[in-house]
Amino acid sequence: MEWRVPLADVAFGSEEEEAVLSVMRSGWLTMGRVTAEFESAFAEFLSVPHAKAVSSCTAALHLACLALELGPGDEVIVPSLTFVATANAVRYTGATPVFADITGFGNFNLSPDSIREAITDKTKAIIVMHYAGYSCDMPAIMQMAAEHDLFVIEDAAHAVGGCLQGNMLGTWGDFGCYSFFSNKNLVTGEGGMLVTSDDELAEKVHRLRSHGMTSLTWDRHRGHAWSYDVVDLGYNYRLDELRSAIGLVQLQKLYEVNQKRRKLVELYRVQLAEKAPDLILPFQDHPGVSGAHLMPVLLPQGADRQSVMEKMKFDGVQTSIHYPPIHQFSSFQDLVCPVPLSITEEVSARELTLPLFPHMREEQVELVVSALAEAVGVKI
Ligand SMILES: *Cc1c(COP(=O)(O)O)cnc(C)c1O
Repeated sequence: MEWRVPLADVAFGSEEEEAVLSVMRSGWLTMGRVTAEFESAFAEFLSVPHAKAVSSCTAALHLACLALELGPGDEVIVPSLTFVATANAVRYTGATPVFADITGFGNFNLSPDSIREAITDKTKAIIVMHYAGYSCDMPAIMQMAAEHDLFVIEDAAHAVGGCLQGNMLGTWGDFGCYSFFSNKNLVTGEGGMLVTSDDELAEKVHRLRSHGMTSLTWDRHRGHAWSYDVVDLGYNYRLDELRSAIGLVQLQKLYEVNQKRRKLVELYRVQLAEKAPDLILPFQDHPGVSGAHLMPVLLPQGADRQSVMEKMKFDGVQTSIHYPPIHQFSSFQDLVCPVPLSITEEVSARELTLPLFPHMREEQVELVVSALAEAVGVKI
């Protein structure tokens, strides 16, 4: 259907088209010079020594878990209020995801107290996810990780361009994982990036990304290598030149795109406070600079979310839910959940995600707010 206000929308310009055409005309489509350029630009943007382009954020998360040698018998603390890939990455390695609860109705990020409660002798790592682009409490989490000798992986799929205390989100932990999926802030279609400051981990990821081989087709094409050895059980998680070319252009536009998103979020907050005061708006006055990926609200207790979404759909407004909690999925029923997840459960039952995309117009924000206020039964 034609939405009057879709949940998300991409806007490519002639720059992205030109970049793709130029790769096609070059005759070299698989990982090579353009991808290397995208990686350096991304690393420079984050002030981090290593960035490895990969086929998705899911691949980045998997490679991070592999490089940290997580496996059967290991426990990894993860949020349940996230996309399923955060927890699946752990399961791919045979390690066990252990869910911790979020902080509260005003902050949907992992609670440091709940993380502490979930730590056992088997805990090896924590994967945090910066919900909607708002920073987790990284100072507290990094300190706890240091005390218990745990690795930290940041699922920064929502958080590209966000920062806290001068450090970019995704560069606090051992690994940062980014997504360039079509509805994210930086779009290549499918695609992702894995960043780290550790030379050895970067080298490991580099090999695992491409079949565990010691040289690439690109190296051989350039005459830098004639053969190769296979030293690890690797994968094909490479990004191609077409997507990297789009990514390079999108990276140049990211600051402006994120600024527009943040302005729209401010406008939403002002309008919602006025027209729908019964709603809870999470991450009010949150520290740091947000990636402003999503616009989540918490509906009043007892509101019928399904009917709110249907009424808004009738007005042409697309909404969504972030997220159905992972621990309630069928595929996760064999997992034991030792820590209470009551805030996660309540938030995921009441959360509603409103449309947000950089070229959204002010009238569209107003339309969403009116439709929502009416749908939850506020007289305007
Ligand atoms: C989108 C997303 C992913 C997965 O990203 P892909 O690039 O599609 O694999 C992982 N985690 C979160 C929180 C996401 O939003």
